[in-house]
Formats: sequence, structure tokens, C-alpha cells
Amino acid sequence: MINLVLFGPPGAGKGTQSEKIIETFGLKHISTGDLFRKHLGEGTELGKKAQSFMDNGKLVPDEVVIGMVEDFLNANTGAKGFIFDGFPRTVAQAEALDQLLSDHNTEIACMVMLDVPQDELKRRLLERGKTSGRADDQNEEKINVRIQEYLNKTLPVAAFYEGQGKASKINGVGTIDSIFEEISSAINAHV
Ligand code: ADP
Repeated sequence: MINLVLFGPPGAGKGTQSEKIIETFGLKHISTGDLFRKHLGEGTELGKKAQSFMDNGKLVPDEVVIGMVEDFLNANTGAKGFIFDGFPRTVAQAEALDQLLSDHNTEIACMVMLDVPQDELKRRLLERGKTSGRADDQNEEKINVRIQEYLNKTLPVAAFYEGQGKASKINGVGTIDSIFEEISSAINAHV
């Protein structure tokens, strides 16, 4: 199996690049943001637990996220590998993911970090908000909270993977194709 973590702040282009990685490497995509939005839309118990956090740009509590990822992995045991998009977002989530994968006799091969300056992130999120219908993309205050959550709680996850020798940092500003080229090279160097 090849398991990848696509890492970076909100608006870094994780969703866009995930689509290309899936096509090329034949992996199963898991975006915790997309899964939460699906639960919200369906009005499930899990969606109700996540809603207030998402509405305010805060991270959903670890146990809720980890349980959802565990269910997803158990439901997709035949996959060739996974691309984790928007997860893990805390060190506790990263530790839990290592444990879950080791229970399935596998591990993370590589973490790719998309680096994008803050003013560019805000510009992209507000632009996406015009068409995405996502309330959290339409309000500058909420965008600032999401970026703060990233800096406080998510950035330490980069050091976690650096410590394991699995992290590659990539410039997330450029054309979609040129960024994808760099991501592919980083993945190929690790698998
Ligand atoms: P973005 O990366 O653009 O902020 P996502 O679609 O990945 O957006 O996530 C939207 C929201 O879902 C986050 O602001 C957060 O509330 C919640 N969320 C998604 N993934 C996680 C996670 N791994 N841990 C905690 N909360 C999460």
C-alpha cells in the first residue's frame, strides 16, 4: 500500500492536487472536510457534533475525527492506498493515524506539505467562497480563525512527520501542473 498525507493550510490547494494524485497513483481519497460536509448535509449524529465547530472555523474534537477516519478505513480495506487530505490536523490525530495504519499492517509513506503565503491563502478562500457555497469561505473573520487554528494546532504535525523523515515541502504557488510535477517527484522519492 502507498499511503500519503497531503498537508497544508486552508486554501493551499489540497483538494485540487488530490484529484490529480488519485488519477496518477490510483489511491483512495479521504478528505475529512468533505466527509463532515456530507454528514452535515445528511443531518447525522456525527454531523450534529461537528457543526458548531465547523461553523466557527474551529477544529472538530479529535475523538470525533479519528472515529470517522477509522470507520472509513474499515469500510475500504481493499484500497491500494489512501491519500489523507485535511487529516491529520493535530499531533494526537497523527499518532492515532499511525496506530490505525499499523493495525492494518501498513504505514504513511510520505507527507507532502504545500507552502502558500497567508495573503494568498485569504485571497483564494474568499475567491472560492463566491462559488463554493461554503459559509466558512465567505467571511474573513472565519478565515482568520481557520488560519490561526492551522498555525496553533496543525503546524506541529509537520514536525511530527519531519521527525519520521517522511516530510517534503513544496511551493504551493504556481500552475496546477507544475505543482503536481513536484508532488509526484516527492512521492516517487519516498515509495
Ligand atoms: P479547509 O482546509 O479549506 O479549511 P476542510 O474542508 O478541510 O477545509 O475543513 C472544513 C472544516 O472541517 C474545518 O474548518 C474543521 O472545522 C473541520 N475539519 C476537517 N478536517 C478536520 C480534522 N482533521 N480535524 C478537525 N477538524 C476538521
